[in-house]
Amino acid sequence: MKKYNKFQGKPPNKIFKNEHKHLPLIIIGGGAAGLFAGCMAGESKLPALILERKHKPARKLLMCGNGRCNITKDIPASQMLEDMGEPSASFLNHALTTFPPSAIQRWFKQHRLNLKMMPDRRIFPRSEKAPDVLHTLTDTLRDTAISLCLNTTVEAIEKTNHPVQGFRVTTQTFSVFTQNILIATGGVSYPKTGSVGDGQKLAKTLGHSLRPYRPGLIGFVIDHPWIQSRKGHTLEGVTMRVICNNTVAYEGRGQLDCENWGIGGAAAYNASLWIARHQPKTFDLEWNVHGENIRVTRPGTRPLKEAIVTVGGIPLTEINPRTMESTKCPGLYFAGEIMDVDGPTGGYNLSAAFASAKCAVDAISRGSIKGKLFRL
Ligand SMILES: Cc1cc2nc3c(=O)[nH]c(=O)nc-3n(C[C@H](O)[C@H](O)[C@H](O)COP(=O)(O)OP(=O)(O)OC[C@H]3O[C@@H](n4cnc5c(N)ncnc54)[C@H](O)[C@@H]3O)c2cc1C
Repeated sequence: MKKYNKFQGKPPNKIFKNEHKHLPLIIIGGGAAGLFAGCMAGESKLPALILERKHKPARKLLMCGNGRCNITKDIPASQMLEDMGEPSASFLNHALTTFPPSAIQRWFKQHRLNLKMMPDRRIFPRSEKAPDVLHTLTDTLRDTAISLCLNTTVEAIEKTNHPVQGFRVTTQTFSVFTQNILIATGGVSYPKTGSVGDGQKLAKTLGHSLRPYRPGLIGFVIDHPWIQSRKGHTLEGVTMRVICNNTVAYEGRGQLDCENWGIGGAAAYNASLWIARHQPKTFDLEWNVHGENIRVTRPGTRPLKEAIVTVGGIPLTEINPRTMESTKCPGLYFAGEIMDVDGPTGGYNLSAAFASAKCAVDAISRGSIKGKLFRL
């Protein structure tokens, strides 16, 4: 049985007192990726501080899977990568093969979260309650002495050379020095959850560029009598196709929700992700239910703020896929949706957040041991 050292937590005061000491790691963003990175740091005995702009952490995680939180999918990493497609597949190859869906499940089980698998292999907490996933993360932070500072918006990051190389991180109320920074501020959808694109702006000040944002995993706005007559209905096993120049460019199967504005559900969402990635000039969207075929030309989507995932963000060419370290600014790391990574519905995006967070913290820990960083 694991022994918890409950009273190791150091008050942030201790961190701020001595300006000449650099904290090994500051994590910006207390969402899925940031909290998981904090857990990995705590378990590697790497002192770290998480700064989160909202008064509660991981608000988007709590929305996941309609509040049930689909944390991963019980498939091999190779299958997960293939389903995600390029460019995410090549970029996440190292992170996800090192920390595959089986390891994600093992980690949560070892931290006393019971899991359940759906017939399609999606993994949820057995309680089907997203707060149980969050508590597993925050309990681990407490037990490994990682502080989480809420209501704290990071406003600026500057490189410093004095007294040693690192960064000065400025929030609305204080500044703190650190040797490494992990930005895990998410995409730009559902801004009320705190994901407003701050991290991308901070990264720009450190030399990064930005791939334009597009809504991924989003519904299509379609005014069609077939949808109107089925408003409020969910149809299973629908085949969805994107047709470009009379050729089927994408085909997927899943659930279809008929809404008063058009269609949603996994079948529509996954097609929208393909469109956001490939940006065909013109296309038809076609779906087939029980032998009935419905085809519409170039439907629009719901707005970016309603997307399940943001396509775009920090270009993957500016990040080392083996360490998640910036190629523009040594000591700066990324994890989660702030990067231009995305996957279909079904636990892929949280898996990417967890695996990239672990990859980054592993690399920082290896560097810290080499560089003999101070311990608090
Ligand atoms: C409705 C919905 C359902 C979803 N369901 C699933 C699902 O079931 N399974 C799945 O795999 N994926 C799902 N996703 C996608 C998944 O939630 C995201 O991909 C994942 O949460 C991304 O994690 P992240 O840590 O990168 O970003 P986020 O979870 O967005 O966290 C970023 C954090 O950074 C903080 N932050 C931002 N700026 C600052 C700043 N300046 N200073 C300090 N902190 C800052 C934010 O407040 C936020 O807490 C869903 C998404 C939505 C919207």
